[in-house]
Amino acid sequence: MASFYRRIFRPVWNQFLTKVPGKKSIGQFARVAFDLMVPGRTIYPDVVVVMTTHCSLKCKNCNNLIPCYEEPYHIPAGELIKDIDTLLSHTDTCLKIQLMGGEPFVYPYLPEVLDYLKGHPKIMSVGITTNGTIIPKAEVLEKIAALPCKNIAISDYGLSQQKIKELCRTLKKYGISYHRSYARTWADPGGVECRNKSLKQLSKEYNSCFSSRYCRTMLNGKLFLCARSASLFDLGYMESSHDAFDIRLKRTDGEFRRELRNFFLKDYAEACNYCDHYLKKKIKAGEQKQEYS
Ligand code: SF4
Repeated sequence: MASFYRRIFRPVWNQFLTKVPGKKSIGQFARVAFDLMVPGRTIYPDVVVVMTTHCSLKCKNCNNLIPCYEEPYHIPAGELIKDIDTLLSHTDTCLKIQLMGGEPFVYPYLPEVLDYLKGHPKIMSVGITTNGTIIPKAEVLEKIAALPCKNIAISDYGLSQQKIKELCRTLKKYGISYHRSYARTWADPGGVECRNKSLKQLSKEYNSCFSSRYCRTMLNGKLFLCARSASLFDLGYMESSHDAFDIRLKRTDGEFRRELRNFFLKDYAEACNYCDHYLKKKIKAGEQKQEYS
């Protein structure tokens, strides 16, 4: 019960009240309450969807390890949409789908994904996280503007490659709401080696991390407990599949929902064995690797 409150109940309400943009209707309040309280219903705060491992920056200490990809790739639109569709077909409400990369605006199939998400009855809002280096094409901007409930999160690291002001002006012109966060420091995630922490320590670190509540990340047909976990697994640094829920595995609707709920309630992430966030050591945000600085 305590883990349900910590990992589903509280994050769902927080997300609903603070991150789903716009005025909420009584119907929406009732829906969230119903999906939270009625046994067998499935509701979760958000899903981060990795569309590409290409990025327009090369951050030295990227939490998601994107610069470690020697051969970055785009996920084919059909595959990505099918995985989101499978997940949503066994879901009643997802408060937010957060589109990520790498850099989402270098993803060539973004228009197709936006078409799929537009007006999806099970999604309450769509977010896109960008590093502000790319001004999207008019076609993309029009499709974002057409989403009923959306928000763009711009990470401003104060880098010369970033076109933050121009991006903000452009989004305003299209009537797209955005949030510009002035990130000047990050918590150092450290290297990708295994730290051999005890289960007790892993649980302590996972439970104190923001990601244990808001960062379930979809990559290549699997849902991971956090974004770093997804990249660690994808890059082969972490072999254990403890942190992964296989969306493509055939199950009945009941089995899917039960296992997904258990996945959300997991008490620790193996990825914390490959992360130093718990130490809260501050480093400069967005510092670029040599060839990009
Ligand atoms: S690996 Fe653990 S501590 Fe690091 S971001 Fe993921 S959940 Fe948080």
